[in-house]
Amino acid sequence: SFLKTIKKKNNSINAFLEIKEDEAIQAAEKIDSKIEKGAEVGKLAGLAVGIKSNINIEDFKITAASKTLENYIGSYNATVVNRIKEQDGIILGVTNMDEFAAGSSTETSYFGYTENPAVPGRIPGGSSGGSAAAVAAEMCDLSLGSDTGGSIRNPASHCGVMGFKPTYGVVSRQGLLDLAMSLDQIGPFAQDAGGIALMLDTIAGYDPIECTSLKDTPDFGGITEKSQDALKGMKVGVVKEFFDVSDDKIVNIIEERIDKMTEAGAEVVELSFDYIDLCLPTYYLINYVEFFSATRKYDGRKYGYRIEDVCGDEVLRRIHIGSYISQKEYSGKYYKKALQARSLIRREITKLLGGVDVIVGPTVPKLPHKLGESLDTMEMYAYDVLTVIANLAGIPAASMKAGEVDGIPVGLQIQGKPLDDAKIIHAMAGLE
Ligand code: GLN
Repeated sequence: SFLKTIKKKNNSINAFLEIKEDEAIQAAEKIDSKIEKGAEVGKLAGLAVGIKSNINIEDFKITAASKTLENYIGSYNATVVNRIKEQDGIILGVTNMDEFAAGSSTETSYFGYTENPAVPGRIPGGSSGGSAAAVAAEMCDLSLGSDTGGSIRNPASHCGVMGFKPTYGVVSRQGLLDLAMSLDQIGPFAQDAGGIALMLDTIAGYDPIECTSLKDTPDFGGITEKSQDALKGMKVGVVKEFFDVSDDKIVNIIEERIDKMTEAGAEVVELSFDYIDLCLPTYYLINYVEFFSATRKYDGRKYGYRIEDVCGDEVLRRIHIGSYISQKEYSGKYYKKALQARSLIRREITKLLGGVDVIVGPTVPKLPHKLGESLDTMEMYAYDVLTVIANLAGIPAASMKAGEVDGIPVGLQIQGKPLDDAKIIHAMAGLE
């Protein structure tokens, strides 16, 4: 039935870039016969999964939505893909994204934009716009994205689904084409908290071949059963500055949601974060430098084309500025300062989280723009101000639908302490 939906809707939505129909059906039949024989099946048995185009899957075109890798075929499975297969998840195909995950709208894909299924004519957000749209349009049960500065939470917010960025190191990045390796995490999209927990239970956990993978990771098993009264007695931090930078209509929706949390027994604690103005410059400086370094392998010899010859403007901007900053580094003028600012941001948000269970607020400060509307670079980057903090600090953060403004979904962001990922899912299950 998912394949039918994809056939019907994908031409206009463009969530999937490649589908392997026969393989998917074969995988499903194999699980069916296992069940018939009474054999044990995995946690994801029968569930259909979409995978972002920057995560390696053997024999699929893994392009990161760039012409650079137009003809690159995955030669191995990322650790997360192996784990999904081990649990009998059915991989349907590869989803669209911004080129190399550098964006917030999925408009920079070499294979054309993705349309927001919840609000036709608008962007789905990005960079994992295809993965969010695929779940929102009911083309699959679950999908994976990557989140470097918001790329899971931002499209989850705009498409009205759930998206989760784990604590840095909880999910292996092995097989992910990196945007900025000190910030990147893979995470799931789902319609509900149970789906998020199930996928995290599948993909999280130590991976001996990934050097930033953590030894001890949270347990995501059986979360939804325990969550009925999750909000009772929960201390919920509300940061004034996160509301000051957001659209009034978004603020109203989020405030209504917070009132509902109070009714369900949560205690609201008002907080203040001093470094909101530092977040975007710090994030983009680090992103440019790490991305520049990551792209040096795309020199046209081993993988596809030389990136500078074929990439889009945003990717080129990051390569040029990243190269410039790296050359100037001996003077310690930019990158070193960005690392200092990152420490400051991490310390401040961790301090605030010390006094509460979770921090809640808007995921994205503005509503998604119309497809074809042209935004300048700073307007584009302004989408990210509330999501980059979690990546800079390495903390877990999720987005779930809080309500709608004129039919456009608005996401509630929930951020937690490092390794307190499960608590965020409890809160989401309590809010469903
Ligand atoms: N929009 C942010 C950027 O362009 C975040 C992207 C991401 O998380 N991959 O870098």
